[in-house]
Amino acid sequence: MIKLIFNYSHIIMKIGIYFFTGLTLVSSSVFAQKMNDYPITPVPFTKVKIIDSFWKPRLETNRKVTIPYDFEKCEETKRIQNFEIAAGMKDGDFVGIRFNDSDVFKIMEGAAYSLANHPDPELEKYLDDLIAKVAGAQEVDGYLYTARSINPEKPARSAGEERWSFLDESHELYNVGHMYEAAVAHFQATGKRTFLDVAVKNADLIANTFGPEKQFGMPGHQEIEIGLVKLFRVTGDEKYLNLAKYFLDVRGQEINNPKYPQRSDIYLQSHIPVVEQDEAVGHSVRATYMYSGMADVAAMVGDKEYIQAIDKIWKNVVYKKIYITGGIGARHRGEAFGDDYELPNESAYNETCAAIANCMWNQRMFLLKGDAKYYDVLERTLYNGFLAGISLKGNEFFYPNPLSCDAKYAFNQGALSRKPWFDCSCCPSNIVRFLPSLPGYIYAVRNNDLYVNLYMSNEAEVKIGKLDVKITQTSNYPWDGEIKVEVNPEIESDFNIKLRIPGWSRNQPVPGNLYTYFEKSNKKVTGQLNGEDIEVKIENGYLTINKQWKKGDEIILNLPMEIHLVESHEKVEENKNRLAIERGPIVYCVEGIDNKGGVFNLLMPEFAPISAQWKPDLLGGINIIKADVPSFIVKDSGEEVKTKSHNLLAVPYYAWSHRGIGEMAVWLPRRAKKLEIITY
Ligand SMILES: [Zn+2]
Repeated sequence: MIKLIFNYSHIIMKIGIYFFTGLTLVSSSVFAQKMNDYPITPVPFTKVKIIDSFWKPRLETNRKVTIPYDFEKCEETKRIQNFEIAAGMKDGDFVGIRFNDSDVFKIMEGAAYSLANHPDPELEKYLDDLIAKVAGAQEVDGYLYTARSINPEKPARSAGEERWSFLDESHELYNVGHMYEAAVAHFQATGKRTFLDVAVKNADLIANTFGPEKQFGMPGHQEIEIGLVKLFRVTGDEKYLNLAKYFLDVRGQEINNPKYPQRSDIYLQSHIPVVEQDEAVGHSVRATYMYSGMADVAAMVGDKEYIQAIDKIWKNVVYKKIYITGGIGARHRGEAFGDDYELPNESAYNETCAAIANCMWNQRMFLLKGDAKYYDVLERTLYNGFLAGISLKGNEFFYPNPLSCDAKYAFNQGALSRKPWFDCSCCPSNIVRFLPSLPGYIYAVRNNDLYVNLYMSNEAEVKIGKLDVKITQTSNYPWDGEIKVEVNPEIESDFNIKLRIPGWSRNQPVPGNLYTYFEKSNKKVTGQLNGEDIEVKIENGYLTINKQWKKGDEIILNLPMEIHLVESHEKVEENKNRLAIERGPIVYCVEGIDNKGGVFNLLMPEFAPISAQWKPDLLGGINIIKADVPSFIVKDSGEEVKTKSHNLLAVPYYAWSHRGIGEMAVWLPRRAKKLEIITY
């Protein structure tokens, strides 16, 4: 009888929510017109078709290999079975880690993005079935956390004895944050409300539970803030936005929950209020999701204090804590940011998720400010720190991404190469949702301005005000710096096209002075408009072209793509007297397999002749870099020593570790010490 009543109330609640959300959705279209948001709007990924020889194969591999592969892994590791058991479809115990639900949600988000651009009835059906399992696993009042729901008497390890009792570590709020993102993606891709209804019902429960006059609580692992803002955008229901803001504002506050106290802790970024934070500290993924959430909320409510805080934190990261690969989070311990200039190479953590979060955050900073420097960081992270995280075949992954490997220290969760999966598989599932969203990072619009932020061949349909414009971009980026942009407005119109001139093409690899080019190039960026040279004046990192655009107008941009040797700031101990190699947006590394088995005896003196060479059959097609290092004299404790001549071959960092286990290094010594010469 009790069960019957529950079932009945469940139905009533469902109907109620259907109408409720249905109404808010209707009103949201009205609301949306006056909704504050970022001053700059990205052109959605659904309007950009990638036809690029570098990125298209990667997006196709994600769609055809990684998405089904990740789902299979979720079946195999019982992540999906947990939902089935919680839904009463099967008997059994919870299997795995308390945050395993989140992996399933992230892959569902990736699958939804994939559906938006590639209709696939089989995948859609699979998602429908999975959503039914997730909905079935949801408790009557909206609570969703299989780690507890399966057996509330004996929840999973670190889930807390009862609901919300161990928020620092339970990931109860983190998991559902990913669910909101996935549900919004599914709704936007398919128009179906099935998943969105689950998200709304859960978010309503959480909004009724937490808040200024309600229970005190903050997510130990941030993410829900981003999901809540997305839910607000879709439903127009302000309580989700308020809840996102609440979850940010309670961090570092003294009012606490006496029954279930939470930690005031650098690791969780809860040591001081978020608006007082000025340095990137603690767990790097939690932190960067939080900065992204702060940007989102600031854009919505116009909060200047949030923006001041993330400005300072951004400067701290980019000037003092980011790797040349764009990786962030130097320490294994606590998966955390290190101190200023603490950037060890071999023990670098650089979680793949942190690279993704860094891209998400920098896009948001750009959307707030319109400065290309954020995309300089994003592009560096995308082509290097992020892309290394997944194998070329799409089914093996790095969790940490070090910049040096001695072929002995098993940095990748016990392995020396990419692994097919991890117990904690946040990175493989994050990659799957990030890649299909990539086309949405290329263009953005503000009033009469069209920003072109990334270069990859594509066909896009953009709206500038009310005007429809077709843009076709053609290039052989990242190997070649010539980019052609064809502009086709539906009618002749006046607007601005703002082309990002990457920092690397104007002697500034990153904003700030953490990395500099050893020798500045004097080659200039050039451009043509319909065959005529144009003056390249750069403002906020953009070349702005204003004209009355007509069908068939064509811009050619030439970015000088030279090989650069990079130096670190003198305070980065590990890189003293060392140089790294980059060309365009690609950072290079040397691997043992190309260098007689070892890399730690190679020198990279600045005067060595260096050249790039296209290798279509190597590692999916890459430019390799060769240096002919001559014999030269060095002084060691007053004694003159002659080094040996040798050749050096470097490959893109993202492509390392595809040809067996071996040594790898990004930073190479400019000069030798006696000992190193003897061992060569
Ligand atoms: Zn991860």
